[in-house]
Amino acid sequence: MKSIDVKLGSTGESSHQIHVGRDILDRMALVILRSRWACRYVVVSDQQVAAIHGPGVLGAMRRAGLVVDLLEIPPGESSKDVPTCLDLAKRLVRLGVDRGSCLVALGGGVVGDLTGFLASIYMRGIAYIQVPTTILAQVDSSIGGKTGVDLEEGKNLLGTFYQPRAVFVDLAFLETLPEAQIKEGLSEVVKYGLIEEPELLAELDSGLNPHGSPDPAWMEALVERCCLIKKRFVEMDERDRGVRRILNFGHTVGHALEAASGYSLSHGEGVALGMVAAARLSARLAGLPGEEVSRLEGLLGRLGLPTRIPQRIPSSGVLECMERDKKREGKGVPLVLLKRPGLPFIQDWVPGDCVRQVLEELKT
Ligand code: NAD
Ligand code: ZN
Repeated sequence: MKSIDVKLGSTGESSHQIHVGRDILDRMALVILRSRWACRYVVVSDQQVAAIHGPGVLGAMRRAGLVVDLLEIPPGESSKDVPTCLDLAKRLVRLGVDRGSCLVALGGGVVGDLTGFLASIYMRGIAYIQVPTTILAQVDSSIGGKTGVDLEEGKNLLGTFYQPRAVFVDLAFLETLPEAQIKEGLSEVVKYGLIEEPELLAELDSGLNPHGSPDPAWMEALVERCCLIKKRFVEMDERDRGVRRILNFGHTVGHALEAASGYSLSHGEGVALGMVAAARLSARLAGLPGEEVSRLEGLLGRLGLPTRIPQRIPSSGVLECMERDKKREGKGVPLVLLKRPGLPFIQDWVPGDCVRQVLEELKT
């Protein structure tokens, strides 16, 4: 098990560690025991993850002598909402959970965001730990302390910045992950390659077995490198006011495509298409070599991710979503672009016409 320091704030009080390894649950339980974060622990998980991994996690914690309960929620984004959050809060009260307790988020980004949010407001804030079980959660959502729930009006509209006491990334969880979820996560890995470590892109190609799924040993090194990249951005800009915005590469167009498709495109698919659009815009506006765009499209294709926008999604709808999101109707949008892979920058004003042309190009 490797431990990565996340150093935050001038006082360092929200600093913590990300522990990465395979089959680390017993080690995790010992670290928790020694750290004395709380006198009791409540694991929050979705029913799917709890059925597969709940016994392993609770068993390891109990063997170490920790007092632990389990609360389950239905799987899926629809649980990341206010009613589920309130329901969990009431169940915590009924269990007698007080300020000396600690929540453990066992699951993907949905469980992580919801549990972190609940921890940040329950009795004015109690401790929590992230135990991410999807690639997306291991390389992205469990790191950085962004928590939140969705409203009917939009995603992540209620939220807080609230750092966990620790993040435990166990690669063994990924062995039970559905194939669609693997692609979702790899889309974010491609993003890290493009904005920070171009070597990752070549490695993504060589590490895949002939069926397109990743080799487990290689995956471990890959996840660890992505954790390091994310934590460096978070350390530089914990509150997402400056350089952390680079992590939005592919996401502005991606989110708009997801919304304009009525969420028939998944997040990973939206981001893949958003990255292709951002790369093409980078070639037009920032001198990104054309062969880098083709390389990206080739890699995404081999990962089973889309590189062409379905005809049924109207470009005008996508642009409207982007401009509404950035509150800049008709004035163009700020986007993260690339001069080269590994050299991103924020372009404050990308003309709407340019975006529209690229969206149309991607439909052919
Ligand atoms: P998710 O949490 O819904 O998990 C996807 C599905 O996989 C669920 O059905 C779950 O039950 C199942 N699953 C999870 N782990 C499994 C395992 N090991 N084996 C078998 N099945 C498993 O989705 P996600 O993609 O992990 O996360 C998406 C969420 O993350 C979104 O709500 C998004 O807004 C959020 N997010 C947050 C941040 C952040 O910084 N906080 C960053 C990116 C995304
Ligand atoms: Zn994302």
